[in-house]
Amino acid sequence: MCENASKVMKPFKPIEAVEGDTTTTIKVWGREYSFGESAMPTSVITQGEEILSGPIRIILEENGEPATWLHKSHYLMSTEADKAVVCGIQKSDAFVINTAITVEYDGLVGINLKMVPKGSTASEIFGHSKSKKVGFEVNKLWVEIPLKREFAMMYQMATGSTVNFEDENAPSDAVVQSCGALKRSMSMSFAPLITVTENGSRGFSYFCESGKNWEPTDENRAVEIVVTEEEVILRLRLLDGHPSSWVQRGNSPLANSYFPLTYHFGFLATPLRPVEKMARKRRILHIAGHHEEGEIDTYDTFLATPSEKFGGKNAYDRMKEAGVTTLILHEAWNTTQNFWEVPVKRKRVIKNIIRECHARDIEFVPYFGYEISTIGSYWDDEKVSEIIRVPKDEDGWFGWYREPFQRDYIVCYRSDWKNTMIEGIRKLVDELDIDGVYMDLGMTECVNEKHGCGYRDKDGKLHPTFPVYGIRELFKGLYSIFQPRGGLIDSHQGAQCNFPSRPFIHSTYTGEEIVWFIRDSGAENIPLDYYNFTLSGKPSGVPVDFVIVEYPDWTFSMALAVTIINGALPRPRMFAHLDIIEPYWKAIDSFPTEKAEWYTFKDNTDWVKTSTDDVKVSFHVHTDLRGKKSLLACISNPTRRVHDDVTVTFADSFIGDYTAYDAIAGEELKVQQGVLHLSFEEFGTKVIHISEL
Ligand SMILES: [Zn+2]
Repeated sequence: MCENASKVMKPFKPIEAVEGDTTTTIKVWGREYSFGESAMPTSVITQGEEILSGPIRIILEENGEPATWLHKSHYLMSTEADKAVVCGIQKSDAFVINTAITVEYDGLVGINLKMVPKGSTASEIFGHSKSKKVGFEVNKLWVEIPLKREFAMMYQMATGSTVNFEDENAPSDAVVQSCGALKRSMSMSFAPLITVTENGSRGFSYFCESGKNWEPTDENRAVEIVVTEEEVILRLRLLDGHPSSWVQRGNSPLANSYFPLTYHFGFLATPLRPVEKMARKRRILHIAGHHEEGEIDTYDTFLATPSEKFGGKNAYDRMKEAGVTTLILHEAWNTTQNFWEVPVKRKRVIKNIIRECHARDIEFVPYFGYEISTIGSYWDDEKVSEIIRVPKDEDGWFGWYREPFQRDYIVCYRSDWKNTMIEGIRKLVDELDIDGVYMDLGMTECVNEKHGCGYRDKDGKLHPTFPVYGIRELFKGLYSIFQPRGGLIDSHQGAQCNFPSRPFIHSTYTGEEIVWFIRDSGAENIPLDYYNFTLSGKPSGVPVDFVIVEYPDWTFSMALAVTIINGALPRPRMFAHLDIIEPYWKAIDSFPTEKAEWYTFKDNTDWVKTSTDDVKVSFHVHTDLRGKKSLLACISNPTRRVHDDVTVTFADSFIGDYTAYDAIAGEELKVQQGVLHLSFEEFGTKVIHISEL
C-alpha cells in the first residue's frame, strides 16, 4: 500500500485507546467502541449516543444444550495512530472462541472470529488433573447485534441477496426492496452490506466479504433482521448445526483433528464523518460529451465557441454564470476506458479544457471506474487473468462496448490493479492538473482465486466473495492523493451501499439503480422512504447528487420534486439542465445553509402542516441575533396528482407573522392569516423564502 495511505487523513483523528479495569474503549472521530467481558464489542457510541440495546453477543449451542460461558475476556493487543487491535476470548465446556478485532482510525471495525474445540490443558497432559470427557457437537453458532429501535428505523442493503419480508405489503422489486423504512422483520441470503440508521445520521453499517464456513439450515435465512418495538436484532446465522468441514482426520484425538473455523465480518457506526449542514460547496455539471455535445476531440472548440443558446457566451462562461464549480467529463474524456495515460492529441485538448476551466475557478474531474480495456497497451493475458473479475456463472461475463471501438472488462480491486491505478492517477494529477476523480464503482462478486477471491466448500464447489476491503483500499489510496490537495472523490456506487469505502470520498452520485424501474413502473411508485435514505448524505457525512435519466414522463424538473425535499438535487447532465437547476442552486446558495438546521418532511411534522399528504415541506431554518426565524422551504408534490389549492400552515409556536417569497418565480406570495396557499403540477416543486416579521 502506498505510504501516505497508512497515515491518518482528515477529517479523522488518531485513535485514542482508554483502558479501564475491565473495559477498553477505542475512540475515533465521533465514535467510541468499548470492549468488556466478551470476545465481541460491548458498546457502540456514536455522536454521544449508545446505539446498542445490549452487548454484541455470540450464541452457541453445543452437545444439544445452550453453551455456558466459563470464561469471557478481552485485552488490548496494540494501539497506534491509525489502528488498534483488541483480542477476545470466550470458552465454553467444549469450545474456545478467539477474536482479533481491528479498529481503524476512520471507525471501521474488522472482526476475525475463530472457533475451535478446546484441547487438553498442560496439567491434563502431564496427568496432574483428569480431563473431563466432552463431546464436540455444534448445534448453533450465531452472532447477534442488538440495536435500539430508534437507531434502526431505516435500512439499505446491497442488491443481489434473496430477501424475505414478514408481510405481503413489502415491495417486490429487488432494487426498491433493498432500501426503505424498516417496518417489519426480514431475512435474507448471505448479504455483504447492510446499513440501518435512525431517521437521520446515526446507525450501524455491517459488512462481510465471504460466506465461507456459513452453514445456515435455510440459505435464505443466513441473515435475519428481527424488528420489535424496543429493538432490532441483526442476526448472523453462521451455523445452524455441526460444521460440515469438521471431520476427523486420521486417528488423532477428536478435538485435535479439527482446524479452527474462521469468520470475517465487521461494521462501522454512522455518521462516518462530520455531517455537513447540507451546505453545497460544489455544483457539478456532469457531461458525457459524446452523447450530447460532440466528440471530445473537438470538445474544446465546442466549449470555447460563443453560442446563441448560451446567450452569446461560450460554454465556459455559461457554466460560470450558472454557478458550476466542477465539470465532470464522463468516460469519453479518454480514448482508453478507465485509464490514466492519454493519447498525445487528446492530451492537448484536455489540457486546454482544464486551463479554461481553471481560469474560471472551475474544477475539472475525469471519469474512472471498474474496467480494463482491450485498447490498452498493458493488455497481457497472464496479467489480465490475475486482475479480472471472474463471475460465478459463465453467463455473468460482461464487457462494456464503446467508441473508439473497444471492449472493457470488469476488473476486481481485490487484485493488485488498485495499486497500479492509484499510482497512475497520482502521476496524472501532476501531468494534467486534474482536480479529482469520478469513480464509477459498484461492488461485484468475484470468484477469481488468482487474487484471493472466491472460496471452496467441502465438496470443492467455488463460491463468490465480495471485495469490500479491496475497494476500500482503492478509495483510501485515491483519498491520499486528493484530500490533502482539496480535491474531489465523487463516488457512484450503483445499487450498493458501500459504507466501508465511504470514509474516503467527498460526495456520492446515486439513483442509476432505479432508472429502469422508473422507466417501466413510474417514478411515483418508488416509496419516498427509498429516496429519503439514499439521498440523505447524513449517515455518510457527504453530499448526494441524484442521477436523472430522462424519459417522456420523467424529466429533470420532475426529479427536483423527489430530491429537494430529501436534501439533494438532480445533477445536471447537459447544458439544457443548467437552465433548470440554476435558480434552485442560487436560491439555496443565497440562504445561510451553513448556519441553518435542515429538517425534512419527516422531522418537522410538529411545526408545519399541509392540506394534503401529497405535498411535502422540508426546510432549512436559521434564527438571527434578534431571535427571528428565516426559512428556506423546499416544498414539492412528488405525485402524479395535480393540486390547485394546497394550504401550508406553520405552528404559531414555531414562527410568528411572516412574509413569503417564491425564490424560483421571483415573486412575493400572499400570506393569509399565517397560511400559505400554493398550487402544484404533478411532480411540481417550489422553493420559498420565509422571513419572520
Ligand atoms: Zn476478485
